[in-house]
Amino acid sequence: MDEKILLTEKNLKGNGFQVKTFESSKEAKEALMESISINESIAFGGSMTLLELDIYEEFKSRGNEIYWHWKGEDKKKELSEAYNSKIYLTSTNALTLDGKLVNMDGTANRVSSMFYGHERVYIIAGRNKICKDYDSARERIRNIAAPKNAQRLNINTPCKFTGKCTDCDSADRICNVEVIIHKNPSGANINIYLIDEDLGY
Ligand code: SF4
Repeated sequence: MDEKILLTEKNLKGNGFQVKTFESSKEAKEALMESISINESIAFGGSMTLLELDIYEEFKSRGNEIYWHWKGEDKKKELSEAYNSKIYLTSTNALTLDGKLVNMDGTANRVSSMFYGHERVYIIAGRNKICKDYDSARERIRNIAAPKNAQRLNINTPCKFTGKCTDCDSADRICNVEVIIHKNPSGANINIYLIDEDLGY
């Protein structure tokens, strides 16, 4: 197991999060399927990691009530139903070695659901999301994740064209809200699955 993962695991636990580590995404998927029952409703946040894991289809074919605005036909309805779901699944833009979660969002549906409103939250992250500190987490979000997301969404932000953040004033800006989860908030049940593979961006 990557040493960075072990150190991050230790510090996340010290910050009150539930943490599990996995050698492969296959193992993580199996553990996730086991820890969520067929009777529980699930919402997905926008996440390339979850897309790569192909887990939406598995939960759906198993019979879970499931909402994801990336998959459902009525995006507005999926987003609205997501708020009432018992379980929330997503990834994180970055984790720091000292055990914090750093995220930026355009509409904030994902970042707000990470810490409030759901009985349990599962955050699935590959080793590529681990950053040395807060500054490198911000650097990663603004110069790696956001440009790739802008390209995926085909929106007109400067980073889509240059790969670099200019702290833009674009109407399409996707970094409107920044959330740092320093420690597990009171009443929240945040479960972090760290996987020794590169996943998402
Ligand atoms: S602030 Fe603008 S330029 Fe910077 S990463 Fe976000 S969308 Fe891209």
